Amino acid sequence: MSEAKPLMTLPAPVAFALERLNTAGFEAYLVGGCVRDACLGKTPTDFDITTQATPDEMKQVLEGEKLLEAGIKHGTLTLVKGGRHIEITTYRQDSAYSDSRHPDKVAFTRSLKEDVLRRDFTINALAWHPKTGLIDYAGGMDDLENRLIRAVGDAGARMREDSLRVLRALRFAAKLGFEIDPGTLSAMMAEGEGLQGVSAERVAEEMNQTLLAPSAINALRVYPRVLFLALPELAPMLHTPQRTRFHAWDLWEHTLRTMAETENDLALRWSALLHDSGKPQTATHDPDGTSHFKGHQAVSAALSEKIMRRLKQPRALGEAVYTLVKYHDERIGPDNLKRWLNRLGPETGLKLLKLQYADTIAHAPRVAAEAHKITRLYEEAQALINSGSCLFLRDLAINGRDLMDMGYPEGPRIGQTLSHLLDQVLSGNLKNDRAELLAAAKALMQA
Ligand code: ATP
Ligand code: MG
Repeated sequence: MSEAKPLMTLPAPVAFALERLNTAGFEAYLVGGCVRDACLGKTPTDFDITTQATPDEMKQVLEGEKLLEAGIKHGTLTLVKGGRHIEITTYRQDSAYSDSRHPDKVAFTRSLKEDVLRRDFTINALAWHPKTGLIDYAGGMDDLENRLIRAVGDAGARMREDSLRVLRALRFAAKLGFEIDPGTLSAMMAEGEGLQGVSAERVAEEMNQTLLAPSAINALRVYPRVLFLALPELAPMLHTPQRTRFHAWDLWEHTLRTMAETENDLALRWSALLHDSGKPQTATHDPDGTSHFKGHQAVSAALSEKIMRRLKQPRALGEAVYTLVKYHDERIGPDNLKRWLNRLGPETGLKLLKLQYADTIAHAPRVAAEAHKITRLYEEAQALINSGSCLFLRDLAINGRDLMDMGYPEGPRIGQTLSHLLDQVLSGNLKNDRAELLAAAKALMQA
């Protein structure tokens, strides 16, 4: 009898960890994302192990190996071997959460079944061992087949135990392109308020992963109200009409289409999501029904800042999103391109053009037809940056020393003069040429 092809090929350090634990008499299985992904025909990158051994027993079994103990309170040791970080976690049975933030206590167990049944979704509750094969106590294989996200056990109770699971369901829908089981979805909506009590960092992590996931747009189209549980400020965007000849879609659909046109980058995905978030607040309608959203850019930027702060996102990400949202409607053209790059810096400047491109495509066809102009502008911006064109004070062909040599007194006037000269270079009135700039500086000094 020929042996069936194994579900997955284990990297040597993973096989080593299983072998060591098993030899010492402890059960150990691959579990969670790697088993799910392997069943879907994907090659896992992260391998998580769940085991009967307690952390102390693991330490004995893996003596001499490099182990990280950051997660030890939750029963997790990380084995660092062969360039991999392998998380090995003791079987747990933590169902009692006092609030959604912290498990009351971590209760270890010797039973794999108890461990997998405390996990969030059936498709994440699969375990596998090269000798015993797949173990499916929660019905995960059926749900994988039917492409369903379903809570393990009683959905309401599971969402109450840890409200973050509400967002995790959305994340897996966005990642895998699965539907959420109707019973699980109604439990999510019923218990979603509990998300207010979940730490900002955990919420931000799930949201970020959701926005970067391959099926994010579809998940947000089908389950917008799950997102609004975490970002209630965005709820008024749903079904907000945009009755202007520039728009073909309502506000939420326009937002999704803008996101769909952005690349996989957090600042771009977040700014696409938030760029028009101030529209519901600023909407007015002419007697003929035409919509206006005067000043929505500033309102959207303020909302973005509030949301990114609340989620405790990294400062650089928050600032980039704020800037992109604030300026998303500014007219950038060949005449002022250098000024914008100077103002925002190369990275954010290029992203603003990418956001504008995506936003333009998501308008009515007559507007979208103009998107190629932004593409050309983007190429021009890239060429300016790559060719080392003068965009910043540091690029100017003269510096403060030159002005002092010419007789300028030390003091603020030097900086003011250099800024003025840079301005002239950016607008094309002067060339970034040493002789030309020195002559201009001399003329300014004598003026
Ligand atoms: P990914 O490949 O996207 O990382 P994953 O399934 O590995 O997916 P993780 O967030 O890394 O997802 O979690 C690992 C496993 O731990 C999950 O598959 C699940 O079994 C379990 N798990 C994680 N978070 C929770 C939670 N909040 N409640 C219950 N089980 C959880
Ligand atoms: Mg994982």
